Amino acid sequence: MSKTIIISNRLPLQLEINNNSITAIPSVGGLATGMKSVHSGSDSIWVGWSGLTDENLDSKSEILVKNALKKHQCVGVSLTEAEVDGFYYGFSNNALWPLFHYFMEYTSFEKETWETYQSVNQKFADVVIDNLEEGDSIWVHDYQLLLLPEMIRKKKPDVTIGFFLHIPFPSYEVFRTIPCREALLKGMLGADLIGFHTYDYERHFLSSTQRILGHEINFNNVHFDNRIVKVDSFPMGIDYDKFHDAAQHHNDKEKKEKTEIQQEIDKHLTGGNKAKLILSIDRLDYTKGIANRLRAFEYFLDKYPQFKGKARLVMLAVPSRSDVPQYQILKNEIDQLVGRINGKFAEVSWTPIWYFYRSMPFENLIDLYTSSEVALLTPIRDGMNLVAKEYIASRVDKKGVLILSEMTGASKEMSEALIINPNNFEEIADTIKMALEMPEEEQIKRNTALQKRLKRYNVEKWANDFMEALEGTQATLKKFS
Ligand code: UDP
Repeated sequence: MSKTIIISNRLPLQLEINNNSITAIPSVGGLATGMKSVHSGSDSIWVGWSGLTDENLDSKSEILVKNALKKHQCVGVSLTEAEVDGFYYGFSNNALWPLFHYFMEYTSFEKETWETYQSVNQKFADVVIDNLEEGDSIWVHDYQLLLLPEMIRKKKPDVTIGFFLHIPFPSYEVFRTIPCREALLKGMLGADLIGFHTYDYERHFLSSTQRILGHEINFNNVHFDNRIVKVDSFPMGIDYDKFHDAAQHHNDKEKKEKTEIQQEIDKHLTGGNKAKLILSIDRLDYTKGIANRLRAFEYFLDKYPQFKGKARLVMLAVPSRSDVPQYQILKNEIDQLVGRINGKFAEVSWTPIWYFYRSMPFENLIDLYTSSEVALLTPIRDGMNLVAKEYIASRVDKKGVLILSEMTGASKEMSEALIINPNNFEEIADTIKMALEMPEEEQIKRNTALQKRLKRYNVEKWANDFMEALEGTQATLKKFS
């Protein structure tokens, strides 16, 4: 029986080491959920790094890890600390991540990390090839593995390969600046199908391919070396029912069952102090526009002082890549901004910003989603932005207003949200006012349309659509061969 091999940088599980045993706990992230229908139910496997470097494993624990992964149909790619440094922190997060998000000034191209990126991609390719059998299909994920499709194709010319990029693909003028631009494009073009979140990313990729490699483009097909590579957009959805049902359950709960955060929120919403909550949730990343959002919120309070005491920004920033210097600088900037703005406006019974620098368990996210009248998401660049979709899915009474940056992939599918330019403080301030004053009927009308779409195009549909299109590439080839 043929199987699908899924490949991503990290495996969708966490390893727990206790004395002499190692257990793998499956992750509950969006990708893991979406891939469930592809991954389970057949003898498919997932290839990726387990999160433990070779230095942390002796030969005995190596076998334990292998067995723990096998129970979840996973196969590990072993990496040393130096490889993780060069491949993940170095090239992936210090060159590709900033470049693909248009932060050219943060992009550092170093020969050594580029070499490690190539050799680690080759390591992944070798593990895939070891596990490949006749008739299998392959689905490669994301920017850490751009070279993998071509590396696999070289050894196995006839295998079916799909590639999906979870971050933006930048315009040609930005992409062309990276020295290894040809190798990156050729790496991706080893696939039969290349998927992006939006049509814009797809167009940018096609134009880079045409201009840098000179390949012929016919609609959304790339023709070269007697091959046709199909390029298409597949906007990733969420596990809609999970968020909607959890929010429903949350609203049905007795008071005694409430989480600490919810009790705290309730306390502030009772009595004379009914400040409306404006929510933002993101990883602490320079692409997310967190500093912009704080400055825009300050500008809003200056411009519309009638909202002092009546609105509060609840900002959850999840620690991320904190050993990369740019992220440390950003953390300091945000700490200072929050302190300054709170100091400037605070009253005895009201502080304008509640700032949480941590990650929160799922049920607390639901507390925040269901308690906030407005969500304010202002990324400077974001491939998709799942938080926008999760907020809408959690609004079971269909009330609530989403303010969303036009620089997110999600904004392309969520036109009923209030769409803003994250650099335009005037517009953000006016839009916050509009959101806080929006009549309930209008909120319900907008969210009804959004929810209908999000429920239909959930993450499972995303995965199935991609797999169907991947199978379709083989049918086309057979027809023309
Ligand atoms: N999230 C989480 N714990 C938190 C805060 C957020 O698991 O404390 C999740 C959130 O539910 C969402 C994801 O992190 O699914 C963030 O995805 P998004 O696409 O918005 O941004 P990314 O971090 O992938 O750039």
